[in-house]
Amino acid sequence: MILELQAGLSPTEIQQLAEKYRAEQVQWNGSALLLTDSSIHQIDQQDADSFRQTIDTGSDIQLAHRDWQPQSTGITIGEHAIGGQSNKTLLMAGPCAVESREQAMHTAQYLAQQGVTVFRAGAFKSRTSPYTFQGLGQEGLEILDEIRTATGMQIITEVRDATHVDAVIETTDIIQVGAKAMYDHGILRACASARKPVLLKRHFGATLQEFVQAAEFILMGGNREVILCERGIRTFEKRTRFTIDLTGVAWLKQHVHLPIVVDPSHAMGLSYGVPDLTRAAVAMGVAGVLLEVHANPAKALSDAAQQLSFQEFDQLKPSLHAVAEAIGYQLC
Ligand code: PEP
Ligand code: MN
Repeated sequence: MILELQAGLSPTEIQQLAEKYRAEQVQWNGSALLLTDSSIHQIDQQDADSFRQTIDTGSDIQLAHRDWQPQSTGITIGEHAIGGQSNKTLLMAGPCAVESREQAMHTAQYLAQQGVTVFRAGAFKSRTSPYTFQGLGQEGLEILDEIRTATGMQIITEVRDATHVDAVIETTDIIQVGAKAMYDHGILRACASARKPVLLKRHFGATLQEFVQAAEFILMGGNREVILCERGIRTFEKRTRFTIDLTGVAWLKQHVHLPIVVDPSHAMGLSYGVPDLTRAAVAMGVAGVLLEVHANPAKALSDAAQQLSFQEFDQLKPSLHAVAEAIGYQLC
């Protein structure tokens, strides 16, 4: 339950109520809140005067729930506002990984010319095998910094583990929490105290409830700027890399006020399916799409099969503008 405290209670009174309801204390837009777990559905009548309002969302999706905040959260990324009332779909694109200065800069300059304002690329890669390319690490972050200066693009890059969380948070404009890191509470808590937007990817084995609960860690820790990213879940299907859960996106749009982004590249795992899936995601009125684009996909050091070539990206982009316009959105 969300228990919004009346103004004027003493710290001791608040502490007593927090202990009684085993609640976390959180500040939200000037209001003091107590957040209980989902086993508590009502308060004692004798405490009623202490609360301005009490909201039972029915689960531990609380601060992210539209029952608490009906209006969509807006987040500013560089020159663009997404979510909120903006009706904008932000195109974020770049290679899976920073492989070298030349490769990343070349791709960033190409994308900047195409009007893309957010460059995505991993410096610390979260790989399933320890024998594959793990990213350039710190050197990759320095290259991303140079790309920001050279192109003016915003940077999104992922935090893989606790060893470099501060370095990534310092360098990037948007912190990407990778699918496998969705359950890493050290990373979630570090993101909670960061003053930058966080793009939280859904773990491929996470239910929607678990996904949004991970976001709750960031929200209740003090960072309101959380973007949820659907990137495919694991089902019985083996022909595609994952299964894109657009039904989940529809559920999230209805119940959760945070901006929602779709990553069709990792969901499909095969570049030929990415254009159709991206159009489908844009047609749902999402706040953004995340696409992998590489100058020479066949030679990519990670996720080679799913990255779009420059030519494929050129062909796709006009149709995304058209789909966005058809539903009253603007691709930016
Ligand atoms: C990525 O964005 O390159 C990535 C590793 O994605 P995910 O965490 O969704 O697997
Ligand atoms: Mn990738």
